[in-house]
Amino acid sequence: MARVFNFSAGPAVLPESVLREAAAEMLDYRGTGMSVMEMSHRSKAFQSIIDQAEADLRKLMGIPDNYKVLFLQGGASQQFAMIPMNLMKNRVADYIVTGQWAKKAWQEAKLYGQANAVASSADRTFSYIPDCSDLPISENADYVYICENNTIYGTKFWTLPNTKGKPLVSDISSCFLSEPVDVTKYGMLYGGVQKNVGPAGVVIAIIREDLITEDVLPGTPTMLRYKTHVDNGSMYNTPPTYGIYICGKVFQWLLNLGGLEVMKERNVRKAKVLYDFLDGSQLFHGTVEKKDRSLMNVPFVTGSQELDAKFVKEAEAAGFVNLKGHRTVGGMRASIYNAMPQEGVEKLVEFMADFEQKNRL
Ligand SMILES: *Cc1c(COP(=O)(O)O)cnc(C)c1O
Repeated sequence: MARVFNFSAGPAVLPESVLREAAAEMLDYRGTGMSVMEMSHRSKAFQSIIDQAEADLRKLMGIPDNYKVLFLQGGASQQFAMIPMNLMKNRVADYIVTGQWAKKAWQEAKLYGQANAVASSADRTFSYIPDCSDLPISENADYVYICENNTIYGTKFWTLPNTKGKPLVSDISSCFLSEPVDVTKYGMLYGGVQKNVGPAGVVIAIIREDLITEDVLPGTPTMLRYKTHVDNGSMYNTPPTYGIYICGKVFQWLLNLGGLEVMKERNVRKAKVLYDFLDGSQLFHGTVEKKDRSLMNVPFVTGSQELDAKFVKEAEAAGFVNLKGHRTVGGMRASIYNAMPQEGVEKLVEFMADFEQKNRL
């Protein structure tokens, strides 16, 4: 068995110990004589899996009691519609457009009301985070929306926007559980888990209680109302049971490591290896403003498309896979989520240094 170093942006690398545990429990989950995949979501065994997962997530993130935790489906993309359907009471919301995912969310919200782009970094290919300390927030905005870590462009909000008292809604798909977070600063946080938390098919939404009401836009389907899922403990219909089970194992893995403070230290140390190399390299260059760099997604280029392609190909042959940049931006991107070991980044940097030696421009 040979495991590669997988730099995929998502679905992405998971902790090896989690995969091993899941493998060991595959045929007989703790004496039930069946796999979690085969189990009723109404069974005692599954109820305890989802309860434990929620309790562990609450502990990891310090989620206060007045926030609900929902395990949903439909990907982060479905939230682009669910958020306005449920939260746009005045039919006005302000969006900060820092990349493709934020842009998609903004475009979707326009289907439901007045969605204003109050700031954008489109002028420089989303390579930075705009100053959001004094934006023209709409008087009657129902919320202010951000994509906190821009998976494609490799930028991160290190300071949250000043929302002037409006609830902040944040897509944290690609920085989920990568560092401690003060949940009280948000009205809602959500993310698809396939970047940093688990397998594709689960979306976790953390929503302040007072924002979850019956007062949703007319025509909002039952399945797309947060209240439906709150009232039914995320089991209005069959939830993505196996995915939730794996997320639960990742939460345990994080708790055993010492929690999100420890995870952040690791992530900072790990990303530094790659950024320091990029800053000293004659061949490779980071594409993002330094102050806005993500710890999770690191895009870089050589300046030559041919060399980029050569690099991606040779890296893959050497066991460093999925380094090709997003199809819309080209170049390379190394996604170095929680489960990417330090060793993976150190070896990648050695490989890059060697490639640079052999391919000086
Ligand atoms: C991947 C990603 C999405 C889209 O997720 P889906 O689950 O495919 O809908 C949205 N936002 C961010 C920040 C992402 O990284």
